[in-house]
Amino acid sequence: MISSDYSRLCNDCILCGRCLEVCPLFQSTNDEEYSPRAKAFLLQLLSISNETLSNGHVRKLAGICLSCGRCTQACPQNIDLPTALAKFKSESPSWKSWLWSCLIRSMPKTLPILSHSAPALSPFLMGDTKNRLLALKEKSHHILTLRFHSIRSSYKNEQALLFPGCIARYAKKKWIKTAYRILYMSGLNVLGMPDWSCCGYSIQQAGLLETSLTMQENNLSIWRSYGKPYIMTFCATCRHALEGMVNADLNWHDNEKDEWLQSIVTISSLLNTSEISLSLYKSLRSAIFLHHSCHARSDVWQWLMKNAPVTVDFGTIDKCCGLGGSLILERPEMLQPVVADLWSSVHSYRDGLLLTACNGCDYQLTTFNPWNFETGHWLDFVEIHD
Ligand code: SF4
Ligand code: SF4
Repeated sequence: MISSDYSRLCNDCILCGRCLEVCPLFQSTNDEEYSPRAKAFLLQLLSISNETLSNGHVRKLAGICLSCGRCTQACPQNIDLPTALAKFKSESPSWKSWLWSCLIRSMPKTLPILSHSAPALSPFLMGDTKNRLLALKEKSHHILTLRFHSIRSSYKNEQALLFPGCIARYAKKKWIKTAYRILYMSGLNVLGMPDWSCCGYSIQQAGLLETSLTMQENNLSIWRSYGKPYIMTFCATCRHALEGMVNADLNWHDNEKDEWLQSIVTISSLLNTSEISLSLYKSLRSAIFLHHSCHARSDVWQWLMKNAPVTVDFGTIDKCCGLGGSLILERPEMLQPVVADLWSSVHSYRDGLLLTACNGCDYQLTTFNPWNFETGHWLDFVEIHD
């Protein structure tokens, strides 16, 4: 038996099945055992009975989740399974949680080393390990250029801070440089680069709630110390995590939650009033695919589609990349069907270009790219001339 009462999870469930239609694990395995509903029932059972099922076994099943939040978005009853699972994991910590915590907290030191040494180390590695290392390298693309001519921004002269996210900060600094140039071009008054903590999303979903709270407290205190400026981000998951901070107990001042939510802006939303040109350096045999990551807003690609030339075909992929949650530690083999399901969307093309607007998705898509696709964050393709 576990301490929390998870009974609302199932009592409110009307068995409509909408969560099954969107869950990447259920969709890619067709196994009801991995569905959101099954996990919700399991948590409820555990909270109300003296079942002999060990916490270890339940954790194993509850850990099979990508924390993508697609079930929550689809649920008419607002059942938030990923948050319940995070709480559950926090109540039954394991060595895997500890390892996850160490991995995330060591990123400021390990990511720069791994990113720089990727070309030298990769010949000695194989398979996914090699691909994971190479995915940390800065990219140079020649296939597409997004050239910004002007950005008419309603944020002109407003004060702003850039929240780049860990992968950008410690491995892909080129994204930060490009993002700054876009912000300057938009007329924003960009303040310095503070010592942000991780957005805390991965660590929270692994059940390390105390650690994630400490990170959130640091980020909130930075924002306050700069006079509550806009927080500009180019990572869909960072934005989602920063917005989710209003649900945490952070000693918010009166009306401050609203101020916080209004301060968080994605750079792609600034671009909706931009003029850009798009050039392809070599002819693409297939379309450019735009990845709609789990935590991206529905208008994430509006700026690109508005400016796209009619000569280029665009497709969208609205599927989970498989990076989220702590599945990679709990059951790494379960990633394969999820990844295969995403790439099956473009299997008839075999080459092309896949753009994303999430730092973590870029990493995962690049790691598991099975064919001759070029993958990248849209910032990889931006060229700005002074
Ligand atoms: S968060 Fe995603 S992977 Fe987890 S149960 Fe919900 S839809 Fe499935
Ligand atoms: S979408 Fe919500 S109400 Fe419908 S089956 Fe899933 S958990 Fe239950």
